Amino acid sequence: MTVGRPRATVAAMAPYRPGKSLAMAADEYGFDLEAVAESAKLSSNENPYPPVPSVVAAIAAAAGDVNRYGDHRAAELREALGVWLGVDPERVATGCGSVGLLQQLFLAYVGPGDEVVYPWPSFEAYPVDVAITGGVEVAVPLVNHAFDLDAVANAVTPRAKLVVLANPNNPTGTAVHVDQIRGLLQQVPDDVLVVVDEAYREFATTNLGDPITELMPDYPNVVVLRTFSKAYGLAALRTGYAIADPSVVTQIDKVLIPFAVNHLAQVASLAAIEARDEARVIIDRLVSERDRVVDALRGYGWEIPDAHANFVWLPLGERTDEVFPALERRGVVVRPFPEVGIRVTIGTPAENDRFLEVLADLD
Ligand SMILES: *Cc1c(COP(=O)(O)O)cnc(C)c1O
Repeated sequence: MTVGRPRATVAAMAPYRPGKSLAMAADEYGFDLEAVAESAKLSSNENPYPPVPSVVAAIAAAAGDVNRYGDHRAAELREALGVWLGVDPERVATGCGSVGLLQQLFLAYVGPGDEVVYPWPSFEAYPVDVAITGGVEVAVPLVNHAFDLDAVANAVTPRAKLVVLANPNNPTGTAVHVDQIRGLLQQVPDDVLVVVDEAYREFATTNLGDPITELMPDYPNVVVLRTFSKAYGLAALRTGYAIADPSVVTQIDKVLIPFAVNHLAQVASLAAIEARDEARVIIDRLVSERDRVVDALRGYGWEIPDAHANFVWLPLGERTDEVFPALERRGVVVRPFPEVGIRVTIGTPAENDRFLEVLADLD
């Protein structure tokens, strides 16, 4: 029985499904977590390493301050981001993770019947926000696991409010250069926001250009989303930021849940900006592991797309539903996309070895 009268669009939604934890997998497949010596949670694209020591110390030192609300607008953090990125702080918004900012963009710009265009498969949060706001999804199929930006441009109708590009794309790990995004912008009306979700930017080792300096001066309808969750290892604290036209910042700030960027998140993010050179060492380690895993998979004969983020994509199609339980039963928990493929996060060298070893045993 349903109590109350939920909005039809919400009642019809499936519940959000986070990446499976090891405990959930152990439960589901009936294995003893303690007995699986080398289990690996490779399902949520998290950084397997803790933040650098100065960031951990800053969080610990601020723990006693949590009786007070933090600064709702995270003004000091917006200033610091502005200095770091060379943009006016009026162009900086902070939110409860970049998914929080994404939801703010939908709440501020997408009403019932408005279209939202994105390549697909892509980040699973996008259709959730479409459903929440009663918008209409226009999903443009990937070609060879990558964006077809001409097809994206052709899919933009007068009903479109947002175009969303995850670059690098989750789950396929493919990426486009800003020059290609410029080609899209030339074809899209300037009252459509083009959101470039760069959650994995820091892991890209080919030059993708920078949409903040190379696109935003000519195209004020570009919104760039970035996060401290992945490269900086702060997923649990929830800080994302957006760089956008000041008028966009004004609108999305109106729908920010009060104090959603909590005090510890602000303190940690400020410390992470200070210590970004140290974080780079961790990022480089993950990138070289990623390249090692890609080489190993190709060595086994797997045809996989180039990986630009902190995960690899196994485009298994129908075999997906047979391979992922086989991995998970042996303690390697991954992210399946039924009948499409499996996304595997880069973990520690031991976790990656475990994944490669289990996969090699499968056929
Ligand atoms: C992980 C991810 C995010 C999320 O980030 P938070 O800042 O933790 O909310 C955003 N976009 C994409 C494409 C992601 O994969």
